[in-house]
Amino acid sequence: MIKRLGIIGVAVLIAFIAFRSNFEIVKPTKEAPVAQQQICHKELAGVVNKGETLFDIFKKYNLDLTELFKIKEASANIHRVRDLHPGQPYKIIIDNDNKIHSLIYWIDDEAFLNIRRNESGFCAVKEQVEYEKIVHNVSGTIKNNLVSSISDENGGLLLALQLSDIFAWDIDFTSDLRNGDTFKIVVEALFLDGQFKKYGNILSVEFINNGKTYYAFGFENKGKIDYYDADGKSLKKAFLKAPLSFRRISSHFSKGRFHPILKIYRPHHGLDYTAAAGTPVSSVGDGTIIFKGRKGQYGNLIIIRHKNGWGTYYGHLSKFAKGIKRGSRVGQGDLIGYVGSTGLATGPHLHYEVRINNKPVNPLTLKLPSGSPVPTSLMADFSRFRNDMRLKLETMGIQTTDYAKK
Ligand SMILES: [Zn+2]
Repeated sequence: MIKRLGIIGVAVLIAFIAFRSNFEIVKPTKEAPVAQQQICHKELAGVVNKGETLFDIFKKYNLDLTELFKIKEASANIHRVRDLHPGQPYKIIIDNDNKIHSLIYWIDDEAFLNIRRNESGFCAVKEQVEYEKIVHNVSGTIKNNLVSSISDENGGLLLALQLSDIFAWDIDFTSDLRNGDTFKIVVEALFLDGQFKKYGNILSVEFINNGKTYYAFGFENKGKIDYYDADGKSLKKAFLKAPLSFRRISSHFSKGRFHPILKIYRPHHGLDYTAAAGTPVSSVGDGTIIFKGRKGQYGNLIIIRHKNGWGTYYGHLSKFAKGIKRGSRVGQGDLIGYVGSTGLATGPHLHYEVRINNKPVNPLTLKLPSGSPVPTSLMADFSRFRNDMRLKLETMGIQTTDYAKK
């Protein structure tokens, strides 16, 4: 059930985040639409299998292949039906003579291809999936070992990843989470035909980590949501809290739905993150690669130069990420390599070092410049939004179901 990461000699603690949610608005189930098509119409619905083409689907249902040609023609400039994606649903309505009345193919979560018969053949349109947004409360407690699976059925894992992204500059989700940490989230829940589909944007969060309370308010500015603290200061900083990203690790080890609490050691002027060999390593900030290669005890090393004489070192790597070259630019969070044990290392770990004007400093106590705050012109709007969100967070209880026992 719980697989263990191959971390040599280190007990692996596995944390799951317990999610309990409650809806603010109970949405009445929609009445089934009155069938307007003739009764003789039949619906063929399915999901594209791996390697399956529209041709295969037509053969499976014994459909007219000359119509397949017309459908391909009609949709050629809209969405090429040649590239069906495995796992995507489709629905074909046929009449008594096996003639196609309409075909719907869901391209992704956001759009579907709608092909309908008309007088001259078929006409195709790409339509946006119109979700109904409902503001939803989610809360929970972090527990040691097993807090809970963030029940994938509710899209909880994606929510946890969003949460780790929002606090990526302040909290290292791979090692800072503590037994008893609590979180409250106000998030958009997206519904289709009365059915929950997924979570949308997180609107606000209260996260108590190791006794310290963090807030995030997702405020829209220039069509984009950015996260700010209660004073309207950006949560973004020049460096991420850690070079090992919860999101990257989660997708890298996606098969077991677990996340290691990594061990950090400080044996010298740097940090050592004990992690499974192959764990992805990312750049903590924007910069330029000024060294890539072998260097004594560091083994395979990457050095990145950032603004203001700042530099970061990533040592003992097993290998470098594709496309990483001396002189190339990297963005914050970009993949640069993988944890290994090259150089002087007894087991796989990442050696991470920050230097200012070539002097090593403690990465955990750095004072880092923040991103742009809420613009003065929007401050009144922000305050209103924040007050509204704060009230929601304050009145939200924390669900305390003991998932560990399940
Ligand atoms: Zn080290």
